[in-house]
Amino acid sequence: MNAVVRKVIIIGSGPAGFTAALYAARANLKPLVFAGIKWGGQLMLTTDVENYPGFVEGILGPKLMENFRHQAERFGAEILAEDVTAVDFKSRPFSVSAGAKTYKSQAVIIATGAETNWLGLPNEQKLIGRGVSSCAPCDAWFFKDKKVVVVGGGDSAMEEALTLTKFASEVSVIHRRDEFRASKIMIDRAKKNGKISFILNSVVVDVLGKDKVSGVKIENVGDNSEKELAIDGMFVAIGHSPLTKIFEGEMALDKKGYVVKKPLLGEGSARYNMMTSVEGVFVAGDVHDYHYRQAVTAAGFGCMAAMEAEKWLEAQE
Ligand SMILES: Cc1cc2nc3c(=O)[nH]c(=O)nc-3n(C[C@H](O)[C@H](O)[C@H](O)COP(=O)(O)OP(=O)(O)OC[C@H]3O[C@@H](n4cnc5c(N)ncnc54)[C@H](O)[C@@H]3O)c2cc1C
Repeated sequence: MNAVVRKVIIIGSGPAGFTAALYAARANLKPLVFAGIKWGGQLMLTTDVENYPGFVEGILGPKLMENFRHQAERFGAEILAEDVTAVDFKSRPFSVSAGAKTYKSQAVIIATGAETNWLGLPNEQKLIGRGVSSCAPCDAWFFKDKKVVVVGGGDSAMEEALTLTKFASEVSVIHRRDEFRASKIMIDRAKKNGKISFILNSVVVDVLGKDKVSGVKIENVGDNSEKELAIDGMFVAIGHSPLTKIFEGEMALDKKGYVVKKPLLGEGSARYNMMTSVEGVFVAGDVHDYHYRQAVTAAGFGCMAAMEAEKWLEAQE
């Protein structure tokens, strides 16, 4: 017996995936959402979210994602708590497999996000949202007149440090080498900022604090000496990893593994926004956007992907 062919399958359940699900459900496309075993995305890791519009007093990250989920479910989105383990985009309808089961769909929206590369320290995970962060535009506000460190040596570390200087009293950039990967212009900008100092040839070996961050333990990689620094916040800026392993060989990914969106204009362009190198496969959120990385932009991309998928499906009929 042939499997039921869905109109749209959505892979991922962060702000992008659930917004795509909401719009697809309200367009009567009866979306099937693979939420993953860790449903809800990156906001499940944090505490207060104060920059998501509509919540004057802010909202807890997990509560916000629960709301996203219930709103999509209210309009009929079907949500499975399973990880997609393989896809076949070579022929239509597309195949999406979760374990031993394979599902067919005319269109697919990829919204699997990008994970922060954390340092892997003993206390780090339990202090996320309690002084440990990876997003200065999200959390700098919480560190007014406080001391913070940024770990990393690339452009994003410099950018995080510069953003933090708008609120924090002192920002120390901790980097394992004595040279930075960051561009000269970003290093110069950081060096010119009176609030930023640099701790080089050093690695953070532990983040201290019980309920909130109170300090970091740093090791000098030259002489292995250790010291503790009293601080209120640690921002990890050593990169992100897009969750795209299952799409390798099925579609265009860039050299860092992010899904490539086809341009709308010019040679080889797509007629539909948010379309990937595979006609009928759309993308939304941090899995393709390494620039903004915000819940509201991810949600916006989810809305766009669902609306474009709807238009594309109509044109197929
Ligand atoms: C600690 C922290 C604090 C933050 N604070 C803020 C903030 O205050 N404000 C703000 O705007 N942004 C904040 N951000 C950034 C924000 O969380 C992200 O920009 C946003 O979550 C991206 O949404 P997304 O839907 O693209 O991806 P994600 O939220 O990463 O969601 C992707 C989902 O897809 C699932 N998935 C992955 N692979 C599969 C698969 N194979 N099968 C099924 N499911 C899969 C994942 O498990 C995950 O649930 C914060 C991020 C972090 C880490």
